[in-house]
Amino acid sequence: MKHEFSAQVGELLNLMIHSLYSNKEIFLRELISNASDAIDKLNYLSLSDEKYKNICENWRPRIDIKCDKEAKTLTISDNGIGMDEAELIANLGTIANSGTKGFLAKLSGDAKKDSALIGQFGVGFYSAFMVASKIEVKSRKAGQDKAFLWSSDAKSYDISECEKDGFGTDVILHLNEGEFAESFRIQNIIKKYSNHIAYPIFADIDEWVAGDPNASDEKLKDGHYESKNTQINKASAIWQMNRSQLKESDYNEFYAGLSHDSSAPLATIHTKAEGTLEFATLFFIPSTEPFDLFRADYQSGVKLYVKRVFITDDAKELLPSYLRFVKGVMDVEDLPLNVSREILQENRILANVKEQSIKKIFAELEKMMKNDRAKYEKFWQLFGKVLKE
Ligand code: ADP
Ligand code: MG
Repeated sequence: MKHEFSAQVGELLNLMIHSLYSNKEIFLRELISNASDAIDKLNYLSLSDEKYKNICENWRPRIDIKCDKEAKTLTISDNGIGMDEAELIANLGTIANSGTKGFLAKLSGDAKKDSALIGQFGVGFYSAFMVASKIEVKSRKAGQDKAFLWSSDAKSYDISECEKDGFGTDVILHLNEGEFAESFRIQNIIKKYSNHIAYPIFADIDEWVAGDPNASDEKLKDGHYESKNTQINKASAIWQMNRSQLKESDYNEFYAGLSHDSSAPLATIHTKAEGTLEFATLFFIPSTEPFDLFRADYQSGVKLYVKRVFITDDAKELLPSYLRFVKGVMDVEDLPLNVSREILQENRILANVKEQSIKKIFAELEKMMKNDRAKYEKFWQLFGKVLKE
């Protein structure tokens, strides 16, 4: 049956399609985060509700990404909670989520500014229309027999019954361009934004298989590519783990990946706060000077995550500029995924995390000064000037 989008969705879709937007790849971050949320929901029910305990026997939560170069489609599948017909209408036909409403309120009407907003923060499911002219969502709610197909060309949408094995959701994007049907490209985007999503993300990737020069069969002498279903993400957020589970080498490896600095850091500061303000931070003080330390356009060293989903690495306000040599991660629980620039600057939760982070970093430096004078002198030589600012 044909349905019309709510006026707000119409406005949002217009923006997605008509803005000259360059950082389109964030749509995948949004869809993977929805898949992960859907698994979170079922995971919770399977632990708390008898009915779902049975449904989830032998359940292995996973996210699957399939590229089809010829058909120019990209499919994101999860075996999470799924949606029934009414939920498809409520969730994918209107804007239920308050973060997106806030985003819409902030739109300036200036296409350039507005499209930059989408890029930095993403605005959920609808951002997939930046790359797809048609989207199909096949979903079966856990515990129900019927599955439904939602499909849309961004003008209106249609819902009908369909066949689907197992519960969960498949989001099928009919892509405008082939770029996002390239498995290599997709693999890189997953690693960039969703490496620390808690559930495994599988995709087919082309792996080079070396030839055997001694083979009797001519065909086996040359190497060739073979498509292989592989887990792409690490599925572990090391900053969310307990310090007792981690070795120094785990931290150093993570630091190397984060900073592209191969020397071990001078200090590692790992904090997990629970209670009214829930967050995890993992900071490093480098043992070498970042090249842009004294440049006005220095790169922020801290990445912001919300509930393990990467949000931005371009938010200098996360720490004061006199701590700009610090590298690391902040992961905050109680923020919306589509946190805007304004929220970053004014949010009380973030201000609180910032304050506690500064305290922790200074406490670590004080400890270093008392317990390891040589190290502290090295630190002072590297960053004393910045700190004095
Ligand atoms: P948000 O994730 O911030 O709520 P989205 O636009 O990304 O906003 O998604 C809208 C809603 O659609 C979600 O809140 C969820 O209820 C539903 N949804 C989207 N994708 C899925 C999915 N893969 N499985 C189950 N529900 C989903
Ligand atoms: Mg979402």
